Amino acid sequence: MKKKMLQFVDLDQETPLKRSTVKRKGDFNEIYDQFITEKAKEQSSRCSQCGVPFCQIHCPLSNNIPDWLKLTAEGRLKEAYEISQSTNNMPEVCGRICPQDRLCEGNCVIEQSGHGTVTIGSVEKYINDTAWEKGWVKPVKVQKELKQSIGIIGAGPAGMACAEELRKSGYQVTIYDRYDRPGGLLIYGIPNFKLEKFVVERRTKLLKQSGIKFVQNFEVGKDKTLYELKSKHDAILIATGVYKAREINIPGNDLINIFPAMEFLTASNRKGLGDKVKLFDDGTLNAEGKDVVVIGGGDTAMDCVRTSVRQKAKSVKCLYRRDRENMPGSAREVGNAIEEGVEFIWLSSPKSFIGNKKVEAVEVNKMKLGEPDSSGRRRPEIEVGSEYKINADLVIKSLGFDPENLPKLFNAKELGISEWGTIKIDLKTMQTNLDGIFAAGDIVRGASLVVWAIRDGRDAAIQIEKYLQSKINKNKSEEAA
Ligand SMILES: Cc1cc2nc3c(=O)[nH]c(=O)nc-3n(C[C@H](O)[C@H](O)[C@H](O)COP(=O)(O)OP(=O)(O)OC[C@H]3O[C@@H](n4cnc5c(N)ncnc54)[C@H](O)[C@@H]3O)c2cc1C
Ligand code: SF4
Repeated sequence: MKKKMLQFVDLDQETPLKRSTVKRKGDFNEIYDQFITEKAKEQSSRCSQCGVPFCQIHCPLSNNIPDWLKLTAEGRLKEAYEISQSTNNMPEVCGRICPQDRLCEGNCVIEQSGHGTVTIGSVEKYINDTAWEKGWVKPVKVQKELKQSIGIIGAGPAGMACAEELRKSGYQVTIYDRYDRPGGLLIYGIPNFKLEKFVVERRTKLLKQSGIKFVQNFEVGKDKTLYELKSKHDAILIATGVYKAREINIPGNDLINIFPAMEFLTASNRKGLGDKVKLFDDGTLNAEGKDVVVIGGGDTAMDCVRTSVRQKAKSVKCLYRRDRENMPGSAREVGNAIEEGVEFIWLSSPKSFIGNKKVEAVEVNKMKLGEPDSSGRRRPEIEVGSEYKINADLVIKSLGFDPENLPKLFNAKELGISEWGTIKIDLKTMQTNLDGIFAAGDIVRGASLVVWAIRDGRDAAIQIEKYLQSKINKNKSEEAA
C-alpha cells in the first residue's frame, strides 16, 4: 500500500493560491482561494506525524493537528472535522487569521529541517469550510436544561467560546454587547480581506440556534451596572476586550483628519456590512484619492494600510520607528501589504503634524536602533537633525490599545485591576476578586489574538461550571445538615 504520510521530501509546500494584486485591490474579499480537495489531501500528507508534535504544543488550543492532517490525507474529512472542532469553537476563523508563522507552523518540525512547514492553517480552514458546506456543523443540542444562568459581557471570541461551552452543559446563557452586532473585533476590527463577515455571522447564528440569548446595544455601566447584572445571573463573565487607543502626544495632534485606527476600520467594516456611516459617506473617513499615512507597525496598522489601498487612496505610507525585522505585526501581513503597493518607511517616527485646521503633512524624525530595551528589542533613538516632511491628508494612528477603566465604567470600584488596567484574575479559577465574576480574553491579557481569546473563553467555561457545581453541592449539604 502506498505510504500516505511523510511526503515532505517528495512534495513541495504549496499554499492556496493568492488572488492577483490587481483583483485584491479591487474588492474587500479574502485574498486566498480555497484549497481544492486533492491539494488539501496532498499537502496534509507532508506531515511527519511526530511523536511529540511541536505544532500542537505551540497552538494555544492544543489542536490535535497531526490527527486531522492524517485524516485529511486519507480523505476522511468528516472525522477530521470532528477532531478539529472538538478543541476549537471557531476553527474556520483561526485557520484564516492566526499568525501561524509564530504558532503552529513556525514550530513544525519539517519547517525546522528546511522543507517548508505543513500548511496547517490552510488545511484547518479547508476542513471546516467543507464542514459548513456539507451541513456537518450543527447547533448545540442540550441533553438536560439546567436552571442556572450565566451573563457574559462581550460578544467577541472569548465571550462566544465560553457561551458555547456552557450551553453544551445545559446552562442558560445570555451575552450582552454594546454594539449592534455580535462578534467583537471579528466584526468591527478585522477587515473582510482577512476574514469575510459571513464566516462570523454564521457562527453567531449557530449560537442563537443553540439557545444562547444575545442582547445587543446593551452597555454594561450605562444600561446596567455590573452588580445589577450579577443579581440577574448565577455567574458573570467579563470579556469586553481592550479598546482605549494609545495616543501620540506631538504638536498638531488636534488637527482635523487624524484618526485612531479603530474609528477608520469600524467605518470601513460598517460600510461593507451595508450601514450608513456619516463620516465615511461625507468623505472624511474614506481614503479615496488621499495621501494616507499610517503610524504603527502591528497587525492593526497592516489592516489600516491595506484598507486604504482598497479604498483607492492616492498613496499609502506606513511609518514605523524600528526596522522590518523588528516589526511586531505578522510577517505574512507585511508581505501582503508590500505586494499591494504600500510604502513602508522604516526607522521613522512622527515629530509633529503640520497643517492649517486640516493635516497637510507629517514631520518625521529618522531613527536608529540602540541597545535592547526590557522587551529585548533594540530601542529606537532619534537621529538628531534628520527631520523631513511627507504629505498627508489622512493620518491614522495605530499605536496599540489599552483597557478602558472598567471599575469606573461598570460602577464597580472594588473590581481588581492590574497596573496595566487589565482585569486581575486568579489564574487557576479565572475568577476576579468579586465572587462569581470571572474574566477572559483581551481584557485580562491585554491586546492579544483570537486563538487566545477562544482558549480563555473555554477555560473560563470550565471554571464557571466548577463554581456553579460547588454552589449546588454547598446548598445540598446545608439542606442535609
Ligand atoms: C484591527 C485588528 C486586527 C486584528 N487582527 C487579528 C488577526 O489577524 N489575528 C488574530 O488572531 N487577532 C487579531 N486581532 C486581535 C483579536 O481581534 C483580539 O485579540 C480578539 O478579538 C479578542 O477577543 P475578546 O473576545 O477578548 O474581545 P473583543 O473581540 O474585543 O470583543 C469584546 C466585546 O465586548 C464588547 N464590550 C466592551 N465593553 C462592553 C460593555 N461595557 N458592555 C457591553 N459590551 C461591551 C465589545 O463591544 C466587543 O463586542 C486584531 C485586532 C484588531 C484591533
Ligand atoms: S488554531 Fe491557530 S495555532 Fe492552532 S492549529 Fe489552528 S492556525 Fe495553528
